[in-house]
Amino acid sequence: MSFFIDSSKYSYSNIFDRNLSSLKWSYKARVFLNLLRTHTSNIGWLDKNHEFRKGETADDIVERLWAFCEVSIAQTRGFHICNLPGCEEHNKSRKPILATRQGITFLLGSAEIRVFGKGRKVYAAPNLIYHYVTAHEYQMPDAFVAALMTGPLPGSSEYTKRVEELGMRLTKTYQV
Ligand SMILES: [Zn+2]
Repeated sequence: MSFFIDSSKYSYSNIFDRNLSSLKWSYKARVFLNLLRTHTSNIGWLDKNHEFRKGETADDIVERLWAFCEVSIAQTRGFHICNLPGCEEHNKSRKPILATRQGITFLLGSAEIRVFGKGRKVYAAPNLIYHYVTAHEYQMPDAFVAALMTGPLPGSSEYTKRVEELGMRLTKTYQV
């Protein structure tokens, strides 16, 4: 999986190729202008070769993070595997990471989540972030947690609108 330092700038180049190629130029232009005004930061792109902040995450925050994992953005065909210490077996078998909460199991690793902060601030994270927090004690940056707790939730019209403004598709996350 690609590694990015937390809060580094997110690049939209692939998404343009993947999602917008079939759309009209006027729409593409509008999305492009939106993207110019938007500041998207990478969060939670972890890798075994890079240290990350560890600590406990309160359950109400984990619960909220789960709600963001219910929808998938920038869906790919393949799966990213967790390569952090403790997941060596997973890594060897190349089986996707599963995450279960309240009887629902999601297949993680093939899509991203979007969290919207104040103004034009956007955060892009792999949906594996849920696994990183719950299985590897990854402590998310405070600014990201603040946006997570106060920003629009998937399922709301505001959330859908903000995702569409980025020219991105939103699908339901694979359930097992
Ligand atoms: Zn893992």
